[in-house]
Amino acid sequence: MNHPFNLQADLALIKAANLYRQRQVLDSPQGIEIESDGKCYVNFSSNDYLGLSNHPEITKAFRQATDQYGVGSGAAHLVCGHSAAHHALEEELADWLGRERALLFSTGYMANLGVISALLNTTDSAVFEDRLNHASLLDGGLLSGARFQRFQHSHCNDLKRRLEKSAAQRKLIVTDGVFSMDGDVALLKELAVLAQQHHAWLMIDDAHGIGVSGAKGQGSVQVAGLNQSQVPVLMATLGKAIGTFGAFVAGSEELIEYLIQRARTYIYTTAMPAAIAEATRVSLRLVQEESWRRDKLVDLVTRFQQGLTQLGIEPMDSLTPIQPILLGESQRAVQISDVLKQHGFWVTAIRPPTVAKGTARLRVTFSSAHENEHIDRLLDALDQLL
Ligand SMILES: *Cc1c(COP(=O)(O)O)cnc(C)c1O
Repeated sequence: MNHPFNLQADLALIKAANLYRQRQVLDSPQGIEIESDGKCYVNFSSNDYLGLSNHPEITKAFRQATDQYGVGSGAAHLVCGHSAAHHALEEELADWLGRERALLFSTGYMANLGVISALLNTTDSAVFEDRLNHASLLDGGLLSGARFQRFQHSHCNDLKRRLEKSAAQRKLIVTDGVFSMDGDVALLKELAVLAQQHHAWLMIDDAHGIGVSGAKGQGSVQVAGLNQSQVPVLMATLGKAIGTFGAFVAGSEELIEYLIQRARTYIYTTAMPAAIAEATRVSLRLVQEESWRRDKLVDLVTRFQQGLTQLGIEPMDSLTPIQPILLGESQRAVQISDVLKQHGFWVTAIRPPTVAKGTARLRVTFSSAHENEHIDRLLDALDQLL
């Protein structure tokens, strides 16, 4: 008889479908050149878009802060874990984004679970999510117990139909600002109009837009010209372009006070180390001041897209540093990723269920630390392989 926990059989199925995942151990810091198992690779897979994850000023701030605050934060924010460093970072985030307040979370995943499930309930709520939303947003919607609806990707009419039909009192529209596996930007202005017309709230997860777009890196919401009343809930992560760790939600005084009372993933978890907050404060200054990093990303992306077109490969509909190459079957994506690795390029294959079936891809991402020469070498390798 099959034991109910026959994991071996499940693992075999995952392998047979080419969906088995394995971690590779890095021996170097994060950067455009990484080392693993004695070999060096040019890295095209990180979300460290601004090349700040190992920046000397940020690592120095981190070291100094551990001298001041130690390593562990010791408790949750509401117990005795909320330091002056956390508090200052929250104020600086709110200033930067033109919002009344900001609230730190230990990770983006937890922020999304906590916020959506705090705002919605099982009796009078509905959540409307783009099909391509990040897993943490989908899980937050499911956890909330609200009526759960997924609309077609960036399809405002589909969303509109669903909003019109909904009898829920509380309606929350939730979307990635920049879609993490496709790199396209949500139709934020249109979504804001729909939200207003249907007395819904709009929540944007700008994990891949923050730092990368906007005059001072304020992200997709600022680029779309939307304010706090149009986008009441702005969430973003600190572990990507900002180069550190954690996440935050920014919005009205009321929203933040409400989350402090009700977001379980905020209340019942240990605060991020204060030294992370101090390091992030320095990063935030660099993100605002060093706009050359954003300009350089635009140049790199343009060069890559022109190169792809010359190779007869259609670039995807993305102007962000996420430049996926669609391959279709998982097996093909894994094969090409493996061969690229033999050539010294680290380009992770992304497979279902992270993306839809039949849309496996290489997720190529750029960092402002890349140089033209890196791009040209990758294009040469792709030319040989595809
Ligand atoms: C990475 C990511 C998250 C999760 O953030 P973590 O801090 O890594 O937990 C949430 N939303 C999106 C869109 C992301 O890309």
